[in-house]
Amino acid sequence: MQTNFTAQQLADPAIAQSEQILRKCVHCGFCTATCPTFVTLGDELDSPRGRIYLIKDMLENDKPANDRVVRHLDRCLSCLSCMTTCPSGVDYMHLIDHARAHIEKTYRRPFGDRWLRKLLAWVVPRPSLFRVSLLGAKLAAPFAGLMPERLRGMVKMGARPLPPPSWVDRPQVIPAQGPRKGRVAILTGCAQQVLETEINEATVRLLTRLGVEIVVAKGAGCCGSLVHHMGREAQSHAQAMANIAAWHGELAEAGGEGLDAIIITASGCGTTVKDYGTMLAQDSQWAAKAAKIAALACDITEYLARIDLPADLISPVHTTDAVGVDHHLANEQASMPKTAPSPAPVSVLEGAVRGVASPSGGKTTAASAPVVSRKWRVAYHSACSMQHGQKIVHPPRDLLRKAGFEVLEIAEGHLCCGSAGVYNLLQPEISARLRDRKQANIRTIKPDIVATGNIGCMIQLETDGLKVIHTVQLLDWATGGPCPQKLAQ
Ligand code: SF4
Ligand code: SF4
Repeated sequence: MQTNFTAQQLADPAIAQSEQILRKCVHCGFCTATCPTFVTLGDELDSPRGRIYLIKDMLENDKPANDRVVRHLDRCLSCLSCMTTCPSGVDYMHLIDHARAHIEKTYRRPFGDRWLRKLLAWVVPRPSLFRVSLLGAKLAAPFAGLMPERLRGMVKMGARPLPPPSWVDRPQVIPAQGPRKGRVAILTGCAQQVLETEINEATVRLLTRLGVEIVVAKGAGCCGSLVHHMGREAQSHAQAMANIAAWHGELAEAGGEGLDAIIITASGCGTTVKDYGTMLAQDSQWAAKAAKIAALACDITEYLARIDLPADLISPVHTTDAVGVDHHLANEQASMPKTAPSPAPVSVLEGAVRGVASPSGGKTTAASAPVVSRKWRVAYHSACSMQHGQKIVHPPRDLLRKAGFEVLEIAEGHLCCGSAGVYNLLQPEISARLRDRKQANIRTIKPDIVATGNIGCMIQLETDGLKVIHTVQLLDWATGGPCPQKLAQ
């Protein structure tokens, strides 16, 4: 694509980067076919190519964002499906990042939109505040029907059972079981540690069982992804810097004990942490540290594939419960959605205590292995941030198969489920259409459960009776941890 930026404009590194990205686009339009918003709405301006033209015009002519540009760019999910499809290697991710920051600087949103965004940017990255908000939302649930649609999403989220805070999310060093074979930091996240404490608990159990010491670094928190996608550059950079400072202190060069990796269990966060080097490339104080931290960032499944899950740790698949029911056969006879049988109940806390070197000193033993059959048909939902953002395709599927699960592919797997951070709250109609489409595709293959590696997708898809479990919970279960609570109910 030909561009016409002036030398003065190109002196701005952000413009220079966007110009390079724009020049790669050859207008072929291949990306339109795999763009969820184009597929849903059918408007060229809601396709990657259309958005690229809007961004080019805005930046090249140094225009403030207007209603039309904002409408179509706001509808972009940042799913990055277009980047997987594009034969020319157009880096759409950094182009839309730049455009969103430009919108934030030059456009005054309508009152309601402005305050909803401020509220989400303030509340969601702070776990304590988010927890209180969800409890408040629970009280507001009876009045949900009277609320604007965008607030209803938050109220629905509050209606979910909220687990109590977990000890694994507090700053600490959690020792490996047996000889230490590795040392990692873990991003405990923000919304995830409020909505699903089992994910980090399962991660801690699994890694320590594999001989890995875990650092939950003091000062690390939200990865910055949520506000980054809102164009709130200063806030996202501040959150990134806090994490970099916390983790960098653990590196050998900073006098720490060293880290083999920074483990991330929400692929949306993983995509952002892996991008810290680019986000802070122009900041002379932070650029080098940011690049180092980004290089260490690793999805939990990438790390497990790297260290190789020992086959002898995997407990037998086909077992029966305390009353002798063969659940595989029972499940084959039941229709979707299927619920797990009733094993001897295993609570989250029991699992946490016995699965790791916890404050009570418990350890995983053969006796703690689940008694529920794991012979499940698992539909694997690859989050966009996993498959498009981080290009992680095989490790989660391979690990699930190795753990004894039957892995099923979902049709139109490249299309977003409509979660996309807080997109489901900001664009509820498009989000609901994408969710319904994804759920229909899942139902077609009649799985017992759905596995995924991103908390946003879990919350989005678990409606309609689907049981959506994080991949790491299934892997922990297969190697001696407790049955995920959703399956044990
Ligand atoms: S990121 Fe996703 S929604 Fe946005 S233009 Fe690309 S494919 Fe479409
Ligand atoms: S596929 Fe790539 S090159 Fe073709 S229009 Fe889309 S972004 Fe441009």
